[in-house]
Amino acid sequence: MPDSNGPALAALAQPGKAAALDSEALQTLVSWTGKQVGDSRTECRGETFPSKAVRNPVMRGCPVCLREDALNNRKNPAIVMVIRGDWLLREVGICCRHHSPLIPLWENIRPAERFDSAGHLRDLAPRIIAGELDRPLRAPSAYDLWLDQRLETGEDSSWLADMIFSSRQLSAVFWAVSSCAI
Ligand SMILES: [Zn+2]
Repeated sequence: MPDSNGPALAALAQPGKAAALDSEALQTLVSWTGKQVGDSRTECRGETFPSKAVRNPVMRGCPVCLREDALNNRKNPAIVMVIRGDWLLREVGICCRHHSPLIPLWENIRPAERFDSAGHLRDLAPRIIAGELDRPLRAPSAYDLWLDQRLETGEDSSWLADMIFSSRQLSAVFWAVSSCAI
């Protein structure tokens, strides 16, 4: 049976090698990219989602995160700017670290071109560094904070952990709780 991580691992093999990632680090990176499970579901960070919750033609991101990345290489900022895996999730709408809403960065219906972030970020880097893409900040909601922690650590101290997530179907509650605090 083919490894469902195969395509993602193959796609990340070269950048992973360039970044001197060992196999464990590469697997962690893949866990943020999502892998297809069956026809219509995608596994991301150990959770299973409807694929359409992860596969969005619009790439979004936090301009403040990307600007901080850019400061690590002022001569060639695009090579150190990183698209975070949680930005792919439709239900993630804010960077809980910077309180910045995620903004649309680029759009492409073809995944291979959409995930070619280096070229897009090279074009956007001057505007991101200049703050042209910044939006007014807002405090994350309790739901935003809960989702951020859940994705980052897999831990969940809320009542949802026992009542719903025994099935590891995080998507089942996205729609029910996204507009209310937990
Ligand atoms: Zn951020």
